[in-house]
Amino acid sequence: MFKKILIANRGEIAIRIIRACKEMGIATVAIYSEADRNSLHVRMADEAICVGPAPNKESYLNMPNIISAAIVTGAEAIHPGYAYFSEQASFAEACEACNIKFIGPKASAIELMGDKARAKETAAKAGVPVIPGSKGTIESEQAAFRTASKMGYPVRLKATAGGGGRGIRVVNSEDELAGALRIATAEAEAAFGNGLLYMEKEIVDPRHIEIQLIGDEHGNYIHLGERECSIQRRNQKLIEEAPSCAVTPAIRKKMGEAAIKLARAVGYANAGTVEYLLDKRGDFYFMEMNTRVQVEHPVTEAVTGVDILKEQILVASGAKLSISQKDIKIHGHAIECRIIAEDPSNNFAPSVGTIELMAAPGGMGVRIDTHIYGGYQIPPYYDAMLAKLIVWGIDRKDAIARMKRCLSEYEIKGIKTNISYQLEIISNPYFEKGELSTSFIPKRMNTEG
Ligand code: ADP
Ligand code: ADP
Ligand code: MG
Repeated sequence: MFKKILIANRGEIAIRIIRACKEMGIATVAIYSEADRNSLHVRMADEAICVGPAPNKESYLNMPNIISAAIVTGAEAIHPGYAYFSEQASFAEACEACNIKFIGPKASAIELMGDKARAKETAAKAGVPVIPGSKGTIESEQAAFRTASKMGYPVRLKATAGGGGRGIRVVNSEDELAGALRIATAEAEAAFGNGLLYMEKEIVDPRHIEIQLIGDEHGNYIHLGERECSIQRRNQKLIEEAPSCAVTPAIRKKMGEAAIKLARAVGYANAGTVEYLLDKRGDFYFMEMNTRVQVEHPVTEAVTGVDILKEQILVASGAKLSISQKDIKIHGHAIECRIIAEDPSNNFAPSVGTIELMAAPGGMGVRIDTHIYGGYQIPPYYDAMLAKLIVWGIDRKDAIARMKRCLSEYEIKGIKTNISYQLEIISNPYFEKGELSTSFIPKRMNTEG
C-alpha cells in the first residue's frame, strides 16, 4: 500500500480523499492556490504545497507544479478527484513517466472514453445499446443535415470533448440546425479547445440512470447498482438518488452487465461510471463513461456500504477488489442534494462572499461532505458547489422525509444558496411520486430548465 498520496484537487472532494487516506493510514499532501490558503483541505492534510496563483490554469491545472510537488514531498501516488486533471490522459501519462501512480484508469482508457463520439462507437462494438446518431463526429454541415433528417428532429448536438453539462445544444427543427452548429462549435472550441461535435437523436423526457463500477488490475469487476440523476438544471445534476424507483432488478442486472462488458473491452481498472438514458419503455442507451470518481458517489456508498474511495486506492496499489458481486446488497434508499452558492430568486446568479454563520443538520442517516465552515470566505474562482447533503432512509419515503427535515434545518448565512429551491423540488408532489425525468425542472417547477 502507498505510504503517501498527493491530492490534486480542492474543495469537498479533496477532503473526501484525505478522510479515506487517514482511515487507511496513508499520509496526505494537499495542493492549493494562493486563494485557498485558508481552505479546510489544506488544514486537514499532513502536508500542503502552494502550486500557484488563484486562476485554475495557474494552480490546479498547472501540471509541472503539481508533479513537482509530488516529487518533492515523496508522494507515491496522485488522486485527481473529479474535474481538473481527472479525465486528462496526458496527466496520467505524466504521472507514469515520473513513476507516480495515477489513481484512476490507464491513460488509454481515459483517452478513449474522453472522446465521447469514439466512446459511443466502442460501446456499440462491445454490444452496449447506444443512442442513435452520427457515426463519429460531424464532418460537414451537409452531413449534419443528412443525419438529422434521417433520424428526425429534435436532435442534440454534443461536444465530443464535452463534460459538466456544457457544450450541448438541442435542435428542434431544420431551420435551427445551421445556426446551432456554428454556435455549438464555437462554444466547444472555447470551453474544451476542441470544436468537434457529434449528433444524437433527442430522447424525450428520459431518466438519467448511471451504473457505478470498479475494476481491479487483475480483471475483476463489480458494479454497485444504479444512481438516478434525472433532476437536472441545464444538463447539470442537482439531486441524485440510489436506487432508482424506475429500475427493476432485471433492468439493473442488464445495465450492470453492459457496463462491465464495456469496462472489460477497454481494459478498465479503477472506479468509473457508465451513464445511460432510460426511456419510458424501459429501454436504455449508453450516453458516456466518466472515468473518475463522481460527485454523487456517496448515495451509492450509503446503500451498499462500500467505500468507493478506499476501493479506488486499494486497486490502484495493485491489490484485488476487497469484495465480489455476490457480496453487494442494496439496503434502503439514499438521496443527495447539491448545495450551491447561487440565488434561485435571481436567475441562479452565482453568489460569493463570506459564510457568516453555518448550522448544519445532523442526526440519524445524515452525511454532509463539504469544505465550508463559519467564517470561510468563498473565493470567486472555483466551482460554486458548497456542500453535498446526503441522507439515508429505510425506503424512498423515509429518505424524502429526512431530506425535507435536513433542508429545513440547514442554515448558511452571508451568501445566497439554493437550499430553499432544493426543498421546493423535494416537496413537489411529482418528485414524491417518483415521476422523474430530465425535463422535471422545466415541466414541474416554475423555473426554466
Ligand atoms: P456531460 O458529458 O456534459 O455530462 P452527457 O452526454 O452526459 O454530457 O449529457 C448530459 C445530460 O444531457 C444528460 O444527463 C441528459 O439529461 C442530457 N442528454 C444528453 N444526451 C441526450 C439525448 N440524446 N437525449 C436527451 N437528453 C440528453
Ligand atoms: P458527475 O458526473 O460527477 O456528477 P459533473 O458532470 O457534475 O460530474 O461534474 C463534476 C464537476 O466537474 C462539476 O463541478 C462540473 O462543473 C465539473 N466538470 C466535469 N467535467 C468537466 C469538464 N470536462 N470541464 C469542466 N468542468 C467539468
Ligand atoms: Mg454526463
